[in-house]
Amino acid sequence: MMKEEVLTVTENIIKLASLVAGKPVSSGKQLVVNNPYNGRPVGTVEMAGLSDTQAAIEMALKGGKVLNRYERYSVLDKARTLLLERKEAFAQLITAESGLCITETNYEIGRAHDVLLFAAMECLKDDGQVFSCDISPNGKQRKIFTLREPLKLAVAITPFNHPLNQVVHKIAPALAAGTPVILKPSEKTPLTAIRFVELLYEAGLPAYMLSVLLGNTKDVAEALVQDPRVDLVSFTGSVAVGKRIAQTAGYKKVILELGGNDPLIILEDADLNLAVELAAEGSFRNSGQRCTAVKRILVHDSIAEEFTKRFVKKAKEYTCGDPADPKTKVGTVIDEQAAIYLENVVDKAVAAGAKILLGGKRTGALLQPTVIINVPRDAQMVVQESFGPLAPILTFKDLDDAIALSNSTAFGLSSGVVTSNMENAIRFVKELQVGTVNINEVPGYRIESSPFGGIKDSGLGIKEGVIEAIKCFTYVKTFSMPW
Ligand code: NAP
Repeated sequence: MMKEEVLTVTENIIKLASLVAGKPVSSGKQLVVNNPYNGRPVGTVEMAGLSDTQAAIEMALKGGKVLNRYERYSVLDKARTLLLERKEAFAQLITAESGLCITETNYEIGRAHDVLLFAAMECLKDDGQVFSCDISPNGKQRKIFTLREPLKLAVAITPFNHPLNQVVHKIAPALAAGTPVILKPSEKTPLTAIRFVELLYEAGLPAYMLSVLLGNTKDVAEALVQDPRVDLVSFTGSVAVGKRIAQTAGYKKVILELGGNDPLIILEDADLNLAVELAAEGSFRNSGQRCTAVKRILVHDSIAEEFTKRFVKKAKEYTCGDPADPKTKVGTVIDEQAAIYLENVVDKAVAAGAKILLGGKRTGALLQPTVIINVPRDAQMVVQESFGPLAPILTFKDLDDAIALSNSTAFGLSSGVVTSNMENAIRFVKELQVGTVNINEVPGYRIESSPFGGIKDSGLGIKEGVIEAIKCFTYVKTFSMPW
């Protein structure tokens, strides 16, 4: 029986390889990807070495068929339809390698679809501007025109938390711009990334335009970041790695989308039912592993008790369990090590006086949605990023206090404010030190084409989102003519 089970699992393993311009590498070294929920192997990836990294750079720079705008549109649009056709298979693969529940991964496919759709649409729009020069006494009868040219080569480095959407958010804008890319996905979720790269080749993308490499950090990620032939590094991930990239990348463009510690701020005049719903969705969706997840719930003193009572009731609806079960609302975090870390963060808060009202228990990589009150303002889970389904509730006494508390961490990604008072809403929009303020919404609310990105330790303020990212993946050239 046992033997049979092992055999079945082995037969079902997905065997993939790093791809240098469409060609599988054959190093003999394999990365094994396990299911965080049951520990079973999901797949293997043939790893790349330094020579593969060099080959990927050379192939991209050597080039090949240059796609015009319509051809770029066609590839992205075809990829969009192929993704829809394979929606179920992609969702199941993401769930298997990441532990995110199947409802979330189906949602992620929808988001990735939108990214492809919006990037395809951008290919069909002109991106130039015209400046008349005779608009000042110092001017002349000329016009200045702008055009956007693709970069020679970009590198995209992605994290594990949205294994498909993070990848699509970098690759689709790059391809829309006509810029070749080398992708280095997370070693925790490489299977989805490679499957998506294969899908793009199938959609008609010339192979030189895209490589995907998994391998040790020095030979792949760092070699790519530091190579002077690379024009741009677009990185999404932790603050520590992002800052290292900023120091080592050298003379090239760098986009850094880093960690977050986003507050949901609930004012005295808030619609409490809405506040409860937003707090639960923001804290627990995607197992709390979104850079814009609600990491701190800040509630006005006068409504804290009633909010907490209703929130705990709501949080009980977020059942955690087998990620493949459609009834599960919260799957695992990325691995057992991450769950142990989070458990430890909770223990430290409790030792400092906090009280767990719900959850707090862990089985393997499965961490229960956890509601905690009386959390000191200097607790690790308040000051640092905890990438999991933790919902610490803190109280504030007035608007000044709420704004100061919100701005008190090193991060500045996004925020949500729940209020029925427009004046208060405007004050928070003006005074929160973040990249985004969402009124009566979760911090994570966006559409895939709107500008997205943080300040302070959350990023350099250079936005992504399809339209801004396309700009990053190009250089602007101007030319002027007598007119
Ligand atoms: P991570 O550990 O920083 O890894 C991100 C990527 O960087 C992975 O592909 C990783 O490769 C690679 N990497 C590791 N060391 C590197 C180095 N020295 N040079 C270049 N690349 C290197 O982040 P994670 O744990 O996967 O993701 C979670 C973090 O991402 C959280 O902090 C979250 O807030 C952040 N995030 C931010 C945003 C945003 O838009 N602001 C969105 C999503 C997530 P290996 O996997 O091979 O180590």
